[in-house]
Amino acid sequence: MTVSPSIASAAKSGRVLIIGATGFIGKFVAEASLDSGLPTYVLVRPGPSRPPKSDIIIKSFKDRGGIILHGVMSDRPLMEKLLREHEIDIIISAVGGATILDQITLIEAIAAVGTVKRFLPSEFGHDVDRADPVEPGLTMYLEKRKVRRAIEKTGVPYTYICCNSIASWPYYDNKHPSEVVPPLDQFQIYGDGTVKAYFVDGPDIGKFTMKTVDDIRAINKNVHFRPSSNLYDINGLASLWEKKIGRTLPRVTVTEHDLLSMAAENRIPESIVASFTHDIFIKGCQTNFPIEGPNDIDVGTLYPEESFRTLDECFNDFLVKVGGTLETDKIATKNTAAVGVEPMAITATCA
Ligand code: NDP
Repeated sequence: MTVSPSIASAAKSGRVLIIGATGFIGKFVAEASLDSGLPTYVLVRPGPSRPPKSDIIIKSFKDRGGIILHGVMSDRPLMEKLLREHEIDIIISAVGGATILDQITLIEAIAAVGTVKRFLPSEFGHDVDRADPVEPGLTMYLEKRKVRRAIEKTGVPYTYICCNSIASWPYYDNKHPSEVVPPLDQFQIYGDGTVKAYFVDGPDIGKFTMKTVDDIRAINKNVHFRPSSNLYDINGLASLWEKKIGRTLPRVTVTEHDLLSMAAENRIPESIVASFTHDIFIKGCQTNFPIEGPNDIDVGTLYPEESFRTLDECFNDFLVKVGGTLETDKIATKNTAAVGVEPMAITATCA
């Protein structure tokens, strides 16, 4: 179906509630919502369990005009009250892997209130109805599928954001790989290193997500992020980084069997990430289907005038983090030991 952009943008309005805004993906979405000028509400979980950096993030949302609400989405009476009181039109959930099923209660609240115009569940990875990772990743996809079926049953319009991989080196055991710089000692190459994947900068995930929320062309659709400039296999990714740092690194093969063994260890979340890594870089789950179903749309087709930040540019950010300079595209060797490369934060589950 082709809808003219003027019709698509005619509905540009709405109060947005973001759940999970202090999280890895949610932060990009909340920032983009604030950038869009739509009234932005952020649900913050009470309690001391939040990492201290969340307080800084919440303050920055407030400083930019975000309205902070307190509560958990699994509290149905509270969610109904908040949705009614604040007349929320659009809900975007970016909760992490451990609380995917809590969204079922949220959906019950959405159905009871009856005024929400769009729900974006916590997806932000692959098309979970198509991708078929091994366990334990499969369990997360089964949960995401349950959430899909629950919102579909209510008749409330929805959009599923299938943004593929975040721009970074795709470490097989790290759920938030863009928080870590690419390797400086050796590359771990998955299989023969020739299976391609799409990499999207975090702020672009937020920006394009926000473009869809009141676009009628994205109603009840899987919106796929496939920027052609950011389609790389892991050999190509390694070469890109070598060009940046001005030297070559040894390449070690991580075989399909190695990835399956790590997945089978069932250490959460590392094994979940290993199962997704297997699905992406061995099975090709991001590229092994055309975007041509009645419920599929490419975000590039929706917004041809908007560009994605290239992976090359994203890797410049990592270069600066490790002490390199963009003028030379290289790391000064003397700086390499002193860069204070962040340790890998292995705390969650991607895609
Ligand atoms: P995080 O674990 O980083 O953040 C989760 C957020 O949800 C936090 O803000 C947390 O609050 C909040 N939250 C969790 N449960 C509740 C609740 N019951 N009520 C209210 N708030 C709640 O999640 P991620 O960013 O890692 O994951 C988000 C989505 O993105 C997932 O679907 C994941 O699969 C996907 N993803 C995709 C990646 C990709 O490369 N494409 C990479 C990583 C994730 P609090 O601050 O209190 O903990």
